[in-house]
Amino acid sequence: MHIRILGASACIGQPGQTTCFQIGGDTLIDCGTGCASLAEEELLAVRRVLLSHGHIDHCGLLPLLADAHACRQGPGIEVYGLAETLDALRQNLFNGKLWPDYTQTPSSDRPWVKLVPVEVGDAVPLVEGMATALPAQHSVPALGWLVEGPWRAMAFSGDSGPCPAFWHWVCGVPSLTDVICEVTYSDEHLQEAMRQGHMTPSLLAPLLADLPPNAHLWLSHGDPGCRDALIEQMLRQAPPGLHVARLKEGALIEL
Ligand SMILES: [Zn+2]
Ligand SMILES: [Zn+2]
Repeated sequence: MHIRILGASACIGQPGQTTCFQIGGDTLIDCGTGCASLAEEELLAVRRVLLSHGHIDHCGLLPLLADAHACRQGPGIEVYGLAETLDALRQNLFNGKLWPDYTQTPSSDRPWVKLVPVEVGDAVPLVEGMATALPAQHSVPALGWLVEGPWRAMAFSGDSGPCPAFWHWVCGVPSLTDVICEVTYSDEHLQEAMRQGHMTPSLLAPLLADLPPNAHLWLSHGDPGCRDALIEQMLRQAPPGLHVARLKEGALIEL
């Protein structure tokens, strides 16, 4: 099973696209602008979206993904997220004002978009593995996700400041090889990061001590104004042995 990175940035502006990872062919984690790089047949192959939270850089293309299925008589999609996140989608995106309410059409029992609430610890079966909702700490209710494939596992922090429960969970996964963690700001913006529920290198470094040796730490969601500085700071502060790199659009992670 592979994870293809369609969007790993906090903002748009080529080549950056906002958060969207394709797992196998039929699952997305988040539905930011990276989703727009999928071909028509790839859009129709998407059957489920695992949402981290309701901010627009993570779910903004859901209405257009639903539209791709509705226009071409596709199978429709299931959207998994916290109940609070799904309520925000109902109230603000699928409300019949900005866009058709695809959660009720063509019928309420078989809509193009089926909203499926999950809580921390809930598992969603995938074709070749399993996804599990993980805790996160952000300015709005949010999740991370653990994806376990046939051989290896990858954890994604979502948008999150320091969340010890997330790190305790992922460090206990024996097959863990990859962690995608948001680091939005460099340490010069520590107060801003803490106010917004985001990470800086000095906030993240103490949480990495129990990661398996030789794990890959992928940094995502970097603010364009401090992206280079935060990579340098993270490389200086990370435990020895950890492979630290910036996650970029087009990357592939094999599980
Ligand atoms: Zn956010
Ligand atoms: Zn974000």
